[in-house]
Amino acid sequence: MKFLSEYRDAHIAKAVIERIKAEATRRWCLMEVCGGQTHTIVRQGIDELLEDAIEMIHGPGCPVCVTPLEQIDKALLIAARPEVLFTSFGDMLRVPGSDCDLQQVRARGGDVRIVYSPLDALVLAQRNPTKEVVFFAVGFETTAPANAMAVWRARELGVKNFSVLVSHVTVPPAITAIMEAPDNRVQGFLAAGHVCAVMGWTEYEPLAAKYHVPIVVTGFEPVDILEGMLLVVRQLEAGRHEVENQYVRSVRREGTPAARVTVDRVFELGNRKWRGIGEIPMSGLRLRDEFSDFDAEVKFGVQDLTVEEPAECRAGDVLTGRLKPPKCSAFGTRCTPEHPLGALMVSAEGACAAYYHMGRYRPEATGAAT
Ligand code: SF4
Repeated sequence: MKFLSEYRDAHIAKAVIERIKAEATRRWCLMEVCGGQTHTIVRQGIDELLEDAIEMIHGPGCPVCVTPLEQIDKALLIAARPEVLFTSFGDMLRVPGSDCDLQQVRARGGDVRIVYSPLDALVLAQRNPTKEVVFFAVGFETTAPANAMAVWRARELGVKNFSVLVSHVTVPPAITAIMEAPDNRVQGFLAAGHVCAVMGWTEYEPLAAKYHVPIVVTGFEPVDILEGMLLVVRQLEAGRHEVENQYVRSVRREGTPAARVTVDRVFELGNRKWRGIGEIPMSGLRLRDEFSDFDAEVKFGVQDLTVEEPAECRAGDVLTGRLKPPKCSAFGTRCTPEHPLGALMVSAEGACAAYYHMGRYRPEATGAAT
């Protein structure tokens, strides 16, 4: 299949691996921003194949993983209300809150449904006028246009029984927070191709210049990742720090202007908590005041709920690259995909889930090879 097969070609991948090994004169620390990239790297063993040339640090780009516990608890409180029909993408249903998860709320009689688009949730609101339909709007800039469109359409159509529980985060402030951390080791970034397909990469240019860090917009297949790594290594070896685009088949510098306009009409930047990391200034999207009627936090009075993250889950350390998942003392023992302590173990993009499913356990915990 064009644009897919060639990016999974083992011969091409091997050639790029050899180029990276030949061109890296020292071991560089790179961060892949996106959880989808993390899974490709771990599943294909790319980090192990290149461990002498590159240390891959897994970044905070899994949207489910960075959704803070208090936002999950707000979802649970809302979903348990008898008048509510709560909708979400499927990957949020098993994310543990303080006491339970959305799946358990459903088992106890809550009307919790999986949808594949926020516009499907809007249709449910039209078909169920006696219910309050809520959509859990989680994600990076990638999912923001569709969520913005759903709110915009709800207002256009006069649908009053629809609202969104917003937990949107954005990538550039996270890069700033990582680069300004005193113990930062990241020397170059693979930026998430799908985020840049929406937003373009102009926001990354001042970051590359300010922090002297190469940023390469990268796709998700094995050869995409390897090419992105090669481009970052070439910049580092040459002392350059620019934004480059490996994902040329999908991303333009300006992104998708129509999607950006839709997002800007409905959302504005605001402070946002990240799971295990804390609040990052102006790192999230929130509904503009004119759309407050569609804000589920306001509608159900949960906007002031604050919850402490559990101390045992080291999500913050994993999400900022300070800790590899198997080094968490709960990994593979008290925390497994069947009984997760944190979102990183259940999300399809979570770093802990990636290591667990690829059998990268701590030998002292399981007897398996690392
Ligand atoms: S292994 Fe579990 S407890 Fe440890 S950081 Fe990952 S999700 Fe949290």
